[in-house]
Amino acid sequence: MEMSALGDESLIIVMTAAATADEVDAVVRRLSDLGAEAHVSPGQVRTVIGAIGAGELVRQQPWEAFPGVERAVPILGPFRSVSRDVRSEDTVVEAGGVPFGGNRVTVIAGPCAVESREQMFAAAEAVRSAGAALLRGDAFKPRTSPYSFQGLGEKGLEILAEVRKEFGLPFVAEVLDPRDIDLVASYADMVRVGSRNMSNFTLLAELGRQPRPVMLKRGYNATIEEWMSAAEYVLGAGNAEVILCERGIRTFETATRNTLDISAIPVVRQLSHLPVVVDPSHSAGRRALVPALARASVAAGANGVMIDVHPAPEAAKVDGPQALPPEEFSSLMDQIGRIAQALGVEMAEPPGGQSP
Ligand code: PEP
Ligand code: MN
Repeated sequence: MEMSALGDESLIIVMTAAATADEVDAVVRRLSDLGAEAHVSPGQVRTVIGAIGAGELVRQQPWEAFPGVERAVPILGPFRSVSRDVRSEDTVVEAGGVPFGGNRVTVIAGPCAVESREQMFAAAEAVRSAGAALLRGDAFKPRTSPYSFQGLGEKGLEILAEVRKEFGLPFVAEVLDPRDIDLVASYADMVRVGSRNMSNFTLLAELGRQPRPVMLKRGYNATIEEWMSAAEYVLGAGNAEVILCERGIRTFETATRNTLDISAIPVVRQLSHLPVVVDPSHSAGRRALVPALARASVAAGANGVMIDVHPAPEAAKVDGPQALPPEEFSSLMDQIGRIAQALGVEMAEPPGGQSP
C-alpha cells in the first residue's frame, strides 16, 4: 500500500458539511499554486484535505477565510520551540550555576523588593541557611499605583551583587522595560518577566537576544496557550534558557489575591520541556496560605517554587502580608525536602553546596 505521509509540515483543512465541489477545488488549486500536494478525502458528511509539503507560506494562509473551509489544523501545534514535540527530555536551565528542571526541585526565596543593604543581608542569611538555592529581590517594581514604592533601581542591583558575593547566592530580578535589560542583565543571574509584562512582545523578543536565562511569569489573565506563545517569543529570538512560572490567575474567587492554577503544572510539564516553577506568594497574597500552596506545587510536579521571605515582614515596603518570616520559611523548607524525598527528586543546592 502506498502511504503519503502527513509529515510535521503538513496541514489538515476541514471543509464544512455544506462545502461545494467548487469550494473544495478552490482550496486544492491554491495549495498547488503554493507548491503543496493536496490529498482530498471525501467523507459522508465532510471533505478533508491533507496539505502535504506545506511550508510556512501554506501554514500562514488565511484558510478559514476561504468559502467552505471550517478550520485548518497544523500537524505540529503552534509551539515550535517550547513543545515536547521538538524535545522530549526535560530542559535544564542554569542560573548562576543553579540548575532548574529535570528531576529536581529548586527553591528561590527572598523579599519582593530590595529595600536596603541591611534588609537584603538579613534575608540572604536566612534563606541561605534554610537551604534556598537562589535569591530573589527586585530593584524595579511593577506597582499598581504610580505612587507606591517603585524600587531602588541600580542601587538595588548593586546591593544584590554584594549579597551574592557575601553569601554565594545567585539572584533573579525583574526587568520591566526593554531599556533596562542591559543594566539588569549585567548584574542578575536570571532576569524575570512579571505577570503584567507577559504579553509585552517587544520585551520578550529583546530578552531572547541577551544571554541571561529568563523566568517568564504567567500573565494573571493569560491562558496556558498564551503563556506558551509568550515563551516562543524568547526562544524564537535565540534564547533557549527559559523557566516558566505559574503565579495564579484572576478568577471569580475573591478569597485569595489570585487563584493558583495547580493544574497548570502537570499540563505544562506534559506540553513543554521547559522547567516550571510556582510562586505561591504572589498567588495567595497572604502568608497563611503560602506553605500549603508551596507543598501542593511540589507534590504536583513543579520544578521549583519561589517564596517571598522578609526578615521583618511587618516592616516591608512591598508585599509584607505575603512574606514568610525566616523561621516559617525554614520549616517550609523541611516540608518541601520531605515531599521531594517521597517523590524521589533531589533538592537543588546553591553553587558552593549547602554550607556557605
Ligand atoms: C513579583 O514576583 O515580585 C511580582 C511582581 O509578581 P507578578 O509579576 O507575578 O505579579
Ligand atoms: Mn511582590
